[in-house]
Amino acid sequence: MDELEHILREYGAFESEVRVFSSKLWLQWCSNCREVCCKALYCRETFESPFLFSLLNKYSHQLYNNTQKAWLSEAGCKLSVGRPPVCYEFLCNTILGAQQTGMHRYAMIVLSKLISHIGKRALGSRHLIEVMDPADLKKIKYSRFKKRLSEARNAFDVVQLYFKGHQLEINDLKVLSKISKQCG
Ligand code: SF4
Ligand code: SF4
Repeated sequence: MDELEHILREYGAFESEVRVFSSKLWLQWCSNCREVCCKALYCRETFESPFLFSLLNKYSHQLYNNTQKAWLSEAGCKLSVGRPPVCYEFLCNTILGAQQTGMHRYAMIVLSKLISHIGKRALGSRHLIEVMDPADLKKIKYSRFKKRLSEARNAFDVVQLYFKGHQLEINDLKVLSKISKQCG
C-alpha cells in the first residue's frame, strides 16, 4: 500500500469517528432546528478538492454520480466521509450559546477543528484539501500527516472524556492547545 493509500484510509477512519461523535452531540440542537446551515457551495468542495474526491471515490462510490453536486437529504448529509472540513468547523450561535461554561465551549471548538487540523501543512504550506493537482497528492509525506493525525487523535480522546464528565488536568489542556489556543 502506498503512502497516499495509508493517508486516505486513516483520514477516512478518523473522520468517521469524529462525525459519529459530533453528530450525536449536536443532535439535541440540530434535530429541532429550522435553519438549513448546509449549503451547496460547501458540498461542492468534495468535487473540487482532489483529496476529498479521492475519499468519495474510495468510500462512497455509489454517490459518485451526483449531478447536483449537493449532499443534503431529508435524513441529513449523505456523505459518511469526504465532507469538507468547514462542515465540521461550523458552530452556530445556538450550539455555542447553549454551552454551560467557557470550558464546554472550548472543548466544542476543539472538536470542530479536528478534521481541519489533520490536513494542515500537508504539502509545503498547503492544506490537504488545497492540493489541486491530483498528481501532487502522491508527494504528501505520510510521516507529516501522521503527526497531525496523532495530535488530533489525542485531543479527540480528551474531548470525549470531557463530555463524559471527566475533569481536565493540565496535561489535557496542553493536548487541546495543539488544536486550538484556549479562548474564553
Ligand atoms: S448547526 Fe445550528 S443552524 Fe445548523 S442545523 Fe444545527 S442547530 Fe441548526
Ligand atoms: S454537511 Fe454535507 S450536506 Fe451539509 S454542507 Fe457539508 S457536505 Fe453539504
